[in-house]
Amino acid sequence: MTDNRYIDTRGASERPVSFTEAVVDGLAAGGGLYVPERVPELTLDEVCALAELPYAKRAAWIYRAFEVDLTDEQLEKITTEAYGSQFDDEAICPITSLGDDVHMLELWHGPTSAFKDMALQCLPRFFSVSAAELRERGKLDDTHMILVATSGDTGKAALEGFRDVDGVSIGVMYPDGGVSDIQFKQMATQRGGNVIVWGVRGNFDDCQTGAKNVFNDEAFAAQLHERFHVALSSANSINWGRLMPQIVYYISAYAQLVADGKVARGSEIDVCVPTGNFGNILAAYYAKRMGTPIRRLLCASNENRVLTDFINTGTYDISERTFVKTPSPSMDILVSSNLERQLFELTDRDAEAIKGWMDDLREKRGFRVDRNTFGKMRELYVADSVDNETCLATIREVFASKGYLMDPHTAVAYKVAENLREDGVPVVVASTAHWAKFGNNVYRALHSLKLSDPLPEPVASLTGCALNQLIVDETGAHRAPAGFAELDDLPIRFTEVIDGTTEAIGTAVCEFLREQAE
Ligand SMILES: *Cc1c(COP(=O)(O)O)cnc(C)c1O
Repeated sequence: MTDNRYIDTRGASERPVSFTEAVVDGLAAGGGLYVPERVPELTLDEVCALAELPYAKRAAWIYRAFEVDLTDEQLEKITTEAYGSQFDDEAICPITSLGDDVHMLELWHGPTSAFKDMALQCLPRFFSVSAAELRERGKLDDTHMILVATSGDTGKAALEGFRDVDGVSIGVMYPDGGVSDIQFKQMATQRGGNVIVWGVRGNFDDCQTGAKNVFNDEAFAAQLHERFHVALSSANSINWGRLMPQIVYYISAYAQLVADGKVARGSEIDVCVPTGNFGNILAAYYAKRMGTPIRRLLCASNENRVLTDFINTGTYDISERTFVKTPSPSMDILVSSNLERQLFELTDRDAEAIKGWMDDLREKRGFRVDRNTFGKMRELYVADSVDNETCLATIREVFASKGYLMDPHTAVAYKVAENLREDGVPVVVASTAHWAKFGNNVYRALHSLKLSDPLPEPVASLTGCALNQLIVDETGAHRAPAGFAELDDLPIRFTEVIDGTTEAIGTAVCEFLREQAE
């Protein structure tokens, strides 16, 4: 069998590319996203048999099913290194069941305590092997700079994944003032000689739009190539090399639940995902399509409910929407990039239609899908949103009734699962961050404070780490992650704040590359 190839959602690529090329390119020429030509189909036996393997081998098995153009040895090595002792649980993403039918899939046991690690421990390894392969085949002579827009969690996970990787440097942009104290310190203290971090004036959408504009600027690409022999690439969830690792844990979770006797073999489950850029829930869609017995996908939004409204109406409209700050900042988003891949699949891969909708989104700040596509979407998805106060109340109530402490993103999904689930259908809730990443709002939740309430003194003056310790002491909840303890003592390396314009980002990138070259 030949290797799988990748086509793009807007039909702009001249020819399908290999997995290694898709990983190195990130975004396809013309702005589309890569998807595999063939999506593997697994039997129920194959799904359930995964439970017999350790997590790293489950991942390697799935990657092989996708027929990537890497050898078995390369895949073994990548997955063994990616899912090793940097995770604080041997199961990598253990499941905690709260009652008979609600199963929390804990995706935050990795080095930066958010689910982004599940993908970003793999992607840099895919990237470095892929770039080396392409160089060997004479298809590449530049080195790379990864440019990442983050609302907080991706940035740290990408920095940690790419630090000191050969032939790659990484620059991260986060919304200045829009991330938690822990998130800021995690990024600003990042170690490594090939890393840079910038605050951007604006919100996450400004960061993401800025990054996309820079990627699409051909003159700038030519300049980087000429001056520095550097090409830009992305570690955002638009990179297929990030999406594929996320598919694994949904298939794996099903296998595990069956093996543990919590779900009857072959019976369907629902999956509820706190959604921002639509990457995580899209991975669940592919898991379903590949044969995992998933009934419906529950899409959970916070007050930035553009996705919930879209799923409920078929119209994606951001023309009059303002960006709301919530306790779940990694879901504060208006333009949800990976939805494009879902629409491509729902239209049976109609690149013309996708291109039209994406043009409308850019020019008219919205688009409306046709009835057929809307109907198909409604068969797969149900969606609901949770407001800020309900999110905090959910953290408080679930801790009081079940002794389980959730971060605000997970709480949004938990609440939506409660609202939308049907009796007798088990639901897997994607638990996407350790509570200690968002200690200030977890404290508010536990003390019945409103989101807008200032923390009382002396709590307000505590650092993120000290506040977490206070919460641990008060609740007896499991400890904050070990790596957080040093954050207050590490030197802050990065404090620069820039504008989100193409020009400002371009200047900052060039300055960094000039310093790297010296
Ligand atoms: C990134 C993130 C999300 C949203 O995931 P998407 O793939 O962007 O939909 C949810 N929760 C946390 C904690 C995150 O870091």
